[in-house]
Amino acid sequence: MRRMRVWFDVVRQRWRGFFLLRLALSMAALHIVVLGVTLVDVGRRGAAARAELERQAALQKARQLATAVRHGVLTRDLALLAEQVDAMRSAGKLRYAMVLDVHGRVLAHTAPVFVGQFVVDPFSQAQLSRHDVLQPVVAQNTTQLLDVWAPVWHGAGLAGWVRVGLDPAYHTLDLWSEWQQGWWYGLLMVGAGLVLATGVARSLGRDVARLQDVMRRVRQGDLDVRIEVTRSDELGELMDGVNRTLQRLAHDEAALRHTSASLALERGRLAAVLASMRQGVLVLDEGGRVQLCNVALCRLLGLRGAPQTWQGRTLTEMLRHSVLPPDAWRDGVTGPKATSTPTSRLADGSEAAEVELPVPLPDGRLLARDRVALQDDAGQPNGTLWLVRDVTDELLAQERLRWQAMHDPLTQLPNRLLLSDRLKHALARARRTQQLLAVCMLDLDDFKRVNDVLGHEAGDVLLQRVAERLRSCVRADDTVARLGGDEFVLLLSELGAPEEVQVALQRVCEVVARPVALPQGEALVHASIGVTLFPINDNDADTLLRHADQALYQAKQQGGNRYVMFDVEFSQRVQLQQRLRERLRIALEADELVLHYQPRVRLRDGRVVGAEALVRWPQGDGGMWYPDRFIPLIEQDALIDALGEWAVRTALRQLRVWAQQGCAVPVAINIAARHFLQPDFVERMQALLASCPDVPATWLEIELVESAALDNLEQAAATIERLRGLGVAVAIDDFGMGYASLGYLRRLPVDKVKIDRSFVMRMLDDRDDGQVVQAIIGLAHTFGRDVVAEGVEHDALAQALQRMGCDEGQGYGFARPMPASDWPAWWSGWSEAHPGAAEDALPKAAV
Ligand code: C2E
Ligand code: MG
Ligand code: MG
Repeated sequence: MRRMRVWFDVVRQRWRGFFLLRLALSMAALHIVVLGVTLVDVGRRGAAARAELERQAALQKARQLATAVRHGVLTRDLALLAEQVDAMRSAGKLRYAMVLDVHGRVLAHTAPVFVGQFVVDPFSQAQLSRHDVLQPVVAQNTTQLLDVWAPVWHGAGLAGWVRVGLDPAYHTLDLWSEWQQGWWYGLLMVGAGLVLATGVARSLGRDVARLQDVMRRVRQGDLDVRIEVTRSDELGELMDGVNRTLQRLAHDEAALRHTSASLALERGRLAAVLASMRQGVLVLDEGGRVQLCNVALCRLLGLRGAPQTWQGRTLTEMLRHSVLPPDAWRDGVTGPKATSTPTSRLADGSEAAEVELPVPLPDGRLLARDRVALQDDAGQPNGTLWLVRDVTDELLAQERLRWQAMHDPLTQLPNRLLLSDRLKHALARARRTQQLLAVCMLDLDDFKRVNDVLGHEAGDVLLQRVAERLRSCVRADDTVARLGGDEFVLLLSELGAPEEVQVALQRVCEVVARPVALPQGEALVHASIGVTLFPINDNDADTLLRHADQALYQAKQQGGNRYVMFDVEFSQRVQLQQRLRERLRIALEADELVLHYQPRVRLRDGRVVGAEALVRWPQGDGGMWYPDRFIPLIEQDALIDALGEWAVRTALRQLRVWAQQGCAVPVAINIAARHFLQPDFVERMQALLASCPDVPATWLEIELVESAALDNLEQAAATIERLRGLGVAVAIDDFGMGYASLGYLRRLPVDKVKIDRSFVMRMLDDRDDGQVVQAIIGLAHTFGRDVVAEGVEHDALAQALQRMGCDEGQGYGFARPMPASDWPAWWSGWSEAHPGAAEDALPKAAV
């Protein structure tokens, strides 16, 4: 059975191959069927027509016979009737002919035996009973018999019947005979059908073959082939459709080739990027299987083999082969939900990735990972991306940075930031334990001198040694912090009684006071300490530090090398000073201060060679405050800079007025050391001079007050040089006081030295002071500087100074400081008393 089916299939296949034959045969068979049906139909119609003709002929015969026999019937002339019936025998296919009377007796018959007999069958009886029949009728018309009756009328009466029976010849269709009649026609039709079918099949076959050829070439990969469309029928449309499809295919194939080329390029780039990344990259699918990973990931996780070997394997398997601890990062293996990045909601409603602690590896490294939930284009989750990195160095660096942010780099002690944190904690603990906490502010006496004498490097080493000593003096729980410079803070906690603080601080003072051996020489410094005790002084951290600072200030004022407990009275005094400072700031801004001017006279000839501007603060009650009352308050802050600038600006404006009045002289302005050391000091002076272009720079002089406070002599010297370059003369004020000494004279390229008035005023009474004045004059001249004596209260002093070689003098002996408005009158009075003095009062360039 199976073999048969196979065989059948083979035949069917073959058969399908004979397209032309099939087509021709199919068309011939169709013709035969159509021809057959047509023939049968034509035959059938022919038979019906012939039957009708036969019937008409039979009726005609009966009618003729009826007409012929009428006389014989009426006369009952049987012989005539027999003769006339006999004459019917010549009619073809006649089965019988008879003549009947009205009762059905046979009067004549083609078979004479029936003459005289009656027709008694029911069919004939029914026919005989009809008297309304005027024309012949077909009584029976079967395949066997065509029986026709015709009435024989005599006048209006029926005389008898004529009956004729015929054999019907063409009642049925004989196909075979029909076929035999039309076979040559059928053959012709089949032949024509074959010719027609072959023609159609050949025309179709040629185009089908072309189509087949095109398809074969397409199968071989040639998409540029096209079929020539030569028809406009359905096959033509099909060919056109094939061409369009091929065109579309060629276009799509080109696009596909381009896409796959760029995909390959992208894949190559991705591979290169992944390979060059230092971060480990891992892409997992929804089921926790590895889709992609890079070399860095394998290296970080200690995985053997190339990244490709892990593709398709499960995360569980990968982690099992890694150096990660057994329970680390296992949350990614359980499926899609767990692979998404865990998030938490921030106060602003946004989502933030939860911070995951790095995982420590057995070799000490720390690994961190970022997880990103991946989504497809439709926004559906389709995996997870891990970015893994070694954060060991990063965390160490962070730790180091954090440490550096909290510590002083020189001494490694906690800095201000960490101190404030420690202080807050210490306060909280002290509040809890009800024990004393000492907040101590410590400052080194004479530290600046070590810096100046032994250099900054020595100063740094000294600070380090002091820091070590301070640490050794306190307990492990206590804090020693450095705020900067030589300022330290000690937090001594868990103290039972104030006496314990005294003992501890006494020890600190002693330890600090021990000589320190430095490479540059031995240094000796002392500590001044201000202390306040919490909760006796129940205040917040900032206030406690401020109080300790106030106490420190007090310790300094008391000569240093001691500790002073903060006391409220002192604090109030400090607050008072602060209020005063604030008032001064406002007064300065409101331009309420005034300058008084005191002339400077050349001792040789009494000529006025300049004036010093001295600030005064008029009070609301009509009184006048002198600088000693308020300058010390602001000497250490930016207000002194503002005061200096204000004085320069005011003096320059005044000079402009005096120039118009003809009494202008160079005016010296007192400038504090800290102001003088501002990096932009010269530029500021230049700007002020530029704002009064009609006042030459040579009319401005600078007196460097508190020169002992100059902690950067190189910078000061450079500033002096630049000022002198502008034409502004510079003098060291109050020389002989403080530490301003020979070193200063040598290193600072000033024009003048002003001897402090305390030496000058007493020099006639005190031998030592006289010698100091003499020494200063000698020294200054040695370095080529002019000498001005302050405090020249009377003529005798002026004369003595002149004898000692002093160049200029300033003091009550010449004039007291006076308001600017008094100056022109004084000037003209003095000029009159000292004729010629005004001529060369101004430097040449200024005249
Ligand atoms: P200084 O620069 O040494 O000014 C000289 C001081 O000696 C002035 O005091 C002056 O009135 C006073 N004086 C002058 N001749 C005599 C005299 O014959 N006998 C006595 N006993 N005193 C005399 P003053 O005006 O009270 O100024 C004191 C200090 O205030 C000044 O000393 C100066 O250091 C500072 N000062 C004044 N004005 C300013 C200023 O605008 N800026 C700055 N930074 N300091 C100023
Ligand atoms: Mg002065
Ligand atoms: Mg002075």
